Amino acid sequence: MLKSIEVDVVIYGAGPAGIIAALKLVQEGKKVAVIEKQNFPRFVIGESLLPYCMEFFEKLDLIDDLNAVGFQKKYGAIFHNGQNAECRFNFSEQYTKGYSYTWQVKRADFDLKLSQIAVDRGVQIYFDHSVVEVEMERDRQKTLVINSKEETKEVFSKFVIDGSGYGRVLPKLLGLEKPSSLGLRGAIFGHLNEIRKPDEYSNFIIATSFNDNLNWSWSIPLKDDICSVGIVGDMNMLNKMKEEDFKLFKAHFTNQSRFENANWSINPKSIEAYSVGVKQMHGEGYALCGNATEFLDPIFSSGVTLAVASGFKAAELAVKQLDNEQVDWQEDYENVISYGTEVFKSYVASWYNGDLQKIFYAKSVNEDIRKQICSVLAGYVWDKSNPFVKKHKSILTTLSKVIDIDTRKPNA
Ligand code: FAD
Repeated sequence: MLKSIEVDVVIYGAGPAGIIAALKLVQEGKKVAVIEKQNFPRFVIGESLLPYCMEFFEKLDLIDDLNAVGFQKKYGAIFHNGQNAECRFNFSEQYTKGYSYTWQVKRADFDLKLSQIAVDRGVQIYFDHSVVEVEMERDRQKTLVINSKEETKEVFSKFVIDGSGYGRVLPKLLGLEKPSSLGLRGAIFGHLNEIRKPDEYSNFIIATSFNDNLNWSWSIPLKDDICSVGIVGDMNMLNKMKEEDFKLFKAHFTNQSRFENANWSINPKSIEAYSVGVKQMHGEGYALCGNATEFLDPIFSSGVTLAVASGFKAAELAVKQLDNEQVDWQEDYENVISYGTEVFKSYVASWYNGDLQKIFYAKSVNEDIRKQICSVLAGYVWDKSNPFVKKHKSILTTLSKVIDIDTRKPNA
């Protein structure tokens, strides 16, 4: 017999966007069901968080529980030009008053922990259930879900939040997909089990450019001496790196003294054309959040932060709507979320056109400017008192034209 479930809000996906939305909704006393395609724990990329996330974890009273897991602390980001120049941002030295640290997490553990907390607080999560169909009306939606035993359920709700990431349930079902304006790049990534010597780099993400700044690699230390590594670039380069069981990709890291004798605890995987967009983030009876809206690029680790910020905001507004308050979804949701996304987009574009790298590796950069840029890199992209937020569209190009480009030495 077809099972029916009745809730206030149904959420697609138990990633950070969906679970943060669910936690906000139960905090406000709403009945929530989350439909999650996979069983947890499951591997997913997106491991380096930004301090702005912590603001939402605090609002949802999650910090102590997450702290107890012992995730690797992250204090900042280091950019290296692969030759002689390095630029370090410490989140403790930023313009916006905010968190000076965050975490670097194995997403399998992080997402599992968040989902367990959500269940403890009253969220019903249906793992191993995929959304396959939806009938969308403003005040009542019917979602059809199916599990791996081909059992189906109908979920009736008063609002839908789509946090299905690259599953992109509603963008696909409602024809909302739009190509990204960013280039067609891809990535290869995996986990190395290293023998870590705690050093000045252990609490930082490091992004290192190579091939004349066309490509870059990341290293993200995680707890238990695991290091997430990856390479981002155009498809031709990635295809070469994938040949013979990722031989060139693996050598890129295992040739470094830091990874001597390290072994792969997660074998290399790849993703192509990861940047995606949508035509709209909301409609009658639904809102999209996280990667189900737009995904930009891994370079500034903005993905989870935007997912958490949009999941929280969508839930906050859904509560108002359910409580019969007037909600202007365009003004109060899409315009707000798009603003932060556009700020990051300017920085991503500036990274790939070389302007930002010129600024990062310049001989000297005014301390106030460094602090303002640092706040963007910490995720405080809605702080319009910061000129590097407010004037994001032009300020990097202008600065890169006037900056002294003699590169400075590592650790200068
Ligand atoms: P997800 O975390 O993808 O969760 C979506 C969930 O929906 C999944 O669990 C999925 O199983 C489920 N789902 C899908 N389809 C269905 C369906 N039909 N029915 C039910 N459930 C469904 N971000 C960072 O912040 N830091 C980083 O360092 C970083 N590195 C990255 C590196 C690369 C190469 C890439 C491509 C991305 C990176 N990101 C990073 C981005 C990050 O991975 C995402 O932005 C983030 O995971 C988005 O969260 P989400 O909750 O929207 O989606």
